[in-house]
Amino acid sequence: MEGSVDTRAWLRCYRCWSTDLEVQVHYEGIHKIDPQTGERGEVVDELQEAVVQCLDCMHDQPHLGFRDGRVEPIEDRWERMVAGTPWVASCTVTVDQDRVESCSGPEAIEFLTYGAFGDAGVREFFTHVRFHKHDDEQIVVHLLVELYARSAQEATEVLEGAAQGQLEITSLAEESRPPAHASGEAH
Ligand SMILES: [Zn+2]
Repeated sequence: MEGSVDTRAWLRCYRCWSTDLEVQVHYEGIHKIDPQTGERGEVVDELQEAVVQCLDCMHDQPHLGFRDGRVEPIEDRWERMVAGTPWVASCTVTVDQDRVESCSGPEAIEFLTYGAFGDAGVREFFTHVRFHKHDDEQIVVHLLVELYARSAQEATEVLEGAAQGQLEITSLAEESRPPAHASGEAH
């Protein structure tokens, strides 16, 4: 599908639609050493991490992955993120308090977000923790979430799939997409 309309549809920033993207690749490898030549030999273990970023708005592009030297769309994400519209959900996630390392101090927001929705790197939406409440052995985390989806149902499914505990959505509203190349936009 090289150079096809298909490629152009997904090979752009999901926020500002810019096609000025770059990929940051981090590679870590452990290799055997050839005792005769000292050359790096067979791979014992390797790890590759890649993040695609937009050079116009500097946002990460979680709908794009990097494999075998080229950027590819992540199939269950790109249509939702590129063809969808932004949604804002107000919700609570109730989790066992053991899931939250600490709910006070400078890293509290990070721990509460992790408790509610898991690892940051695998989420393709933005979360803002508003406050939290304790309920016996559980913590109720109140959040605002911004995500891209093609329908309210799809937005709900994404949140349900990511929540690490009982999810309750109190409101879900569609926003208008920011104009393309809104470079003066405040973040
Ligand atoms: Zn962008």
